[in-house]
Amino acid sequence: MAFTGVLAVEEETREVFMNVGTAGEIIFYVVSTLTIGVFFWGSYRRVKKYRRGRAAFRMANLKKALFANPFQGVRRREDTWSVGAVAANSSVARRDRAAGIAHFFVFWGFITLFIGTVILTIDYDIVRKASKLIVGEEMSFFQGTFYIVYSVILDTMGFTAVLGLAYLAFRRGAIRPKKLDYERAEKPEGGYSRSKIVLGDWVFIGLFAAILATGYFLEAFRIVATGFPSFEVWSPVGWVLGRGFEAVGLSTAAAGTAQIITWWTHAALALTFVGMIPFSKAMHMLLDGVNLLVHDRSSVRHLPAPPPEAEHVGYQELSDFTWKELLDLDACTKCGRCHEVCPARTAGAPLSPRDLILDLRQWADANTGGITLLDHETRPDRTGPLTVDHEAPIAGGVISSRTLWSCTTCMHCVEVCPVGIEHVPTIVQLRRGLVDQGDMDPTLQTALKNLSTQGNSFGKSARMRARWTKGLDFKIKDARKEPVKYLWFVGDFASFDDRLQANSIALARILNAAGVDFGILYEGERNAGNDVRRVGEEGLFEMLADHNIAALESAQFEEIFTTDPHSLNTLRNEYPERGASYKVWHYTELLLDLVESGTIPVRSLGQKVTYHDPCYLGRYNGVTEAPRKLLKALGCELVEMPRNGANSFCCGAGGGRIWMDDSFLEERPSENRIREALGVGVDKFIVSCPKDVTMYSDAVKTTGNEGQMEVRDIVFLVQEALTNKPAEPGDLLERTGV
Ligand code: SF4
Ligand code: SF4
Repeated sequence: MAFTGVLAVEEETREVFMNVGTAGEIIFYVVSTLTIGVFFWGSYRRVKKYRRGRAAFRMANLKKALFANPFQGVRRREDTWSVGAVAANSSVARRDRAAGIAHFFVFWGFITLFIGTVILTIDYDIVRKASKLIVGEEMSFFQGTFYIVYSVILDTMGFTAVLGLAYLAFRRGAIRPKKLDYERAEKPEGGYSRSKIVLGDWVFIGLFAAILATGYFLEAFRIVATGFPSFEVWSPVGWVLGRGFEAVGLSTAAAGTAQIITWWTHAALALTFVGMIPFSKAMHMLLDGVNLLVHDRSSVRHLPAPPPEAEHVGYQELSDFTWKELLDLDACTKCGRCHEVCPARTAGAPLSPRDLILDLRQWADANTGGITLLDHETRPDRTGPLTVDHEAPIAGGVISSRTLWSCTTCMHCVEVCPVGIEHVPTIVQLRRGLVDQGDMDPTLQTALKNLSTQGNSFGKSARMRARWTKGLDFKIKDARKEPVKYLWFVGDFASFDDRLQANSIALARILNAAGVDFGILYEGERNAGNDVRRVGEEGLFEMLADHNIAALESAQFEEIFTTDPHSLNTLRNEYPERGASYKVWHYTELLLDLVESGTIPVRSLGQKVTYHDPCYLGRYNGVTEAPRKLLKALGCELVEMPRNGANSFCCGAGGGRIWMDDSFLEERPSENRIREALGVGVDKFIVSCPKDVTMYSDAVKTTGNEGQMEVRDIVFLVQEALTNKPAEPGDLLERTGV
């Protein structure tokens, strides 16, 4: 950067305060100082609010995001994002490429213009003034080649921001995707109005667009008023606009007048925007990058324990939330992606993760004196009290218990949220309070009682757990009595449910035939506690986990495999916090290994199938390839449903929902899923979770598609490929005598 001497009139540069005059300059500086003061005051209030939250221990995540791999998450979704991913707007472009590209242009356009303004400020307010003071003459780097390069970059980047903003406005105003209509999943009595929120969105877009537009007009009027200096061609947008004005007869004098009017308009809009940032939708510009850098998707996989110092169970006060959870509330841009994918909302349940976050934000603001302009819900007349009663208790009041109990903890909201919001841990923390108050479905109450007394939700004696093994013509080893390579954690449904015991029998026979050294815990096994924890019954979870850990400690094994993705999740991710770390596999991974190594010789089935990824296997634990490779190895043609892999659609059973009434739903998630499968033209729906067999077999019946769609556990395909005989659960039950 070359410094030159006193500014020469003919030098390539522009006059910063052209036609503004000394008085105008003083007014500008006074108002700018006040505006920056408002900005910092508003930002301070936000930070103060987050500081009221508990510790969240995200420093390791932040360090990883900043220093470990600067491109983590750019190409594929990881547990944490990185600076590179934030810079590339990867979280926005993922699942909505057009919106991501448009946002990228706006994001970088804004940053470039901001940096340009800072550079200009450094030159005008520091370099020029300091040089005048020190060496007695005004020096500047804002001229010559520097100015030309500066002009080209800012003009171009500003224009890409205009294009991006135009697309986003078109999408919001003309395409109007359903997820942006702000219709609530739960409609409170007396109605509601979100027109202020809509207005807030348009004020944000409109203000930004007006700043960009007046910037270009200002440039054009300046170029016309200064007689089109040749170097100004490097401000291409302003130049072309200026030529346009010239063509319609704008005189130099009129351009000068227009220039000063536009100068003040542009300055007023820009200062208004800056002042509004901490109080409006624009705050996401400050918060979302931070929220992404401290995001930790694994917090859903291993839920946080209740705060040890808490005087009550569950969240009741603002200070119960962690600062990350409070930051989440403000980070929401209302993009509606979570609203769109939520199986509860799709099914007609009164839950939308977006609405939950917005209601909590409104409540948190009301309790902290937060000022948020045009971003609050009101009663329909827009003057009445807010829909959210901020005096009510949070769990069961601000957020109704029906809403909280509707969640299947499928994690889809967290998966798709472009700003790193972690809805599920917050929902579970709120559920903990409901459980403590006994505010729950009677069927759930019964299930929890059974789990507490018998260790399973079926209410059957622990001695019955391994009864399904009686029909086998061999004895499965008791891992507590003799060492085994693999400990099979069977899970409740595959142990007790009459319809699902056939799955366990089939798997046992395959493994036995393959010579796999495995054993089970017999009556020593209890429900793993995954869903108990997600219901919010932390004490019972601890009891079940500790019992299982003691049983596992008494056994001799090298690795664990399980047929239940829910058990897999807690064994793999939550038991380690209780001092019990194991290598835990899903049975599809084990079967794939056996097939690929040739231990299980299989014939090609040549069947056309679709496969459903269980949430706790695919989305939670990233096991999406093993079942697909297994299907391929079995010679099946896999036809993917539109929602697959980490984007799979929940069956509706998770988070304890399987123990609750779902008769009020307009359409069960499992029914929705069966419709989706029928749409891809297959008649075999392959699953790899015992609960899914139940959920989808029922859904086939309730949607009247018996005979059209067959729900099969993947284990039966392996059995068929192994024995050359199609395996029917009924046959197996008969043959094994169970
Ligand atoms: S976890 Fe699933 S059911 Fe629960 S709010 Fe999120 S998307 Fe909806
Ligand atoms: S929570 Fe996330 S995904 Fe949902 S509306 Fe807000 S920003 Fe979008």
